[in-house]
Amino acid sequence: MIGIAVLGATGSIGTSTLEVIKRHGARFRPIALTANRQVERLFEQCIEYRPEYAVMVDDDSAQRLHERLKQVGIGVEVLSGLDGLKQVATLPQVDYVMAAIVGAAGLEPTLAAASAGKRVLLANKEALVMSGRIFMDTVRESGAELLPVDSEHNAIYQCMPADAGNGLAGTGVSRILLTASGGPFRATPLKQFADITPEQACSHPNWVMGRKISVDSATMMNKGLEVIEACWLFDAKPEQIQVVLHPQSVIHSMVQYTDGSVLAQLGNPDMRTPIAHALAWPERIDSGVQALDLFAVARLDFEAPDFSRFPCLRLAYEAIEAGGTCPAILNAANEVAVQAFLDRRLGFGAIPDVIEATLGHVSSSPADTLTAILDDDTAAREQAMQLINRKEGQSRA
Ligand code: NAD
Ligand code: MG
Repeated sequence: MIGIAVLGATGSIGTSTLEVIKRHGARFRPIALTANRQVERLFEQCIEYRPEYAVMVDDDSAQRLHERLKQVGIGVEVLSGLDGLKQVATLPQVDYVMAAIVGAAGLEPTLAAASAGKRVLLANKEALVMSGRIFMDTVRESGAELLPVDSEHNAIYQCMPADAGNGLAGTGVSRILLTASGGPFRATPLKQFADITPEQACSHPNWVMGRKISVDSATMMNKGLEVIEACWLFDAKPEQIQVVLHPQSVIHSMVQYTDGSVLAQLGNPDMRTPIAHALAWPERIDSGVQALDLFAVARLDFEAPDFSRFPCLRLAYEAIEAGGTCPAILNAANEVAVQAFLDRRLGFGAIPDVIEATLGHVSSSPADTLTAILDDDTAAREQAMQLINRKEGQSRA
């Protein structure tokens, strides 16, 4: 049996992961499930999956979960905080770690799993965006296996030649074609951007996802983060990654070769496919996803991305080009701006303004230690918060 820790078990990716695991109960055993504050949701998952450990971020929620489990006589060890997350990510009986916490909060536990030489199923793209070099070095040094769960990167992984482990040089790959749906506002008139509500931004045309990544998809920062993610995963340069708008989300990404061949991975937009791929690799297992019906799809469209409509995409390319902690600063400012938008304190169109201004104010450093990365993450959050408070003050005045 393969032991699995699901970090972020109550989220969109976490729940889909547990669904796939349940189909293969003889093969995978959930050892640990973690969540932020959703006590009831994690309680239900503990009843259903009977893990050895459950982790909640704060002590109070952990205590409540512990009480709930005691009431029904279920013996699950409940831990809390970052230490609890790192502990379950490195347990000897855990073989695979699904990294599905959203945002920077996932960095340290995911890095701990990589240091411990686990198979890391990576959904938490923010971890790699923040700490790309350290993360990839850690994976190499510890002998961990890194399998991308993000649907585009999983598609690219499937289309890459088997010898692509040391970068694109010599593999015959000329470009990565990273597909993007363009989100819900691909064709919305720009003058309406100021009035976009969180509800509108969170209703993605093709995918059902957590709220943060849904807003990122609407601003296309998600694609920007994915460009950075692809640079690290495949040792590619930013100019080797072409974003291709493809509104149907049937092709999940492509790899172009020097002989003119383009390989694509297609499927219904359902995260259980990349999750099952990463769980079973190099084998294939049933994911529960329906077979793709090409006659129902009927057509596939492609467009060039519009960088003036989606400034976040430009900012992400600039951040990875600039290097150092710039991607971590970009990511932190984005997390703060997205939360302010979801809290209705910041307009949709102002999200890129806050990120750009934060990048202009916080000076970056070499990203060679975790401390440097976390320090600049903190500085960027403070700066972004100040900018948002000032904007809020101005709009009230
Ligand atoms: P979600 O909001 O649905 O779930 C997030 C999970 O993380 C929850 O279990 C939550 O309890 C936990 N969490 C939140 N804040 C935390 C904190 N501070 N500390 C510890 N745990 C915390 O998010 P999601 O859509 O499942 O996305 C998870 C990650 O996967 C993100 O990095 C996202 O970019 C990536 N991803 C998601 C999808 C998708 O289809 N949802 C696709 C590709 C990549
Ligand atoms: Mg994706």
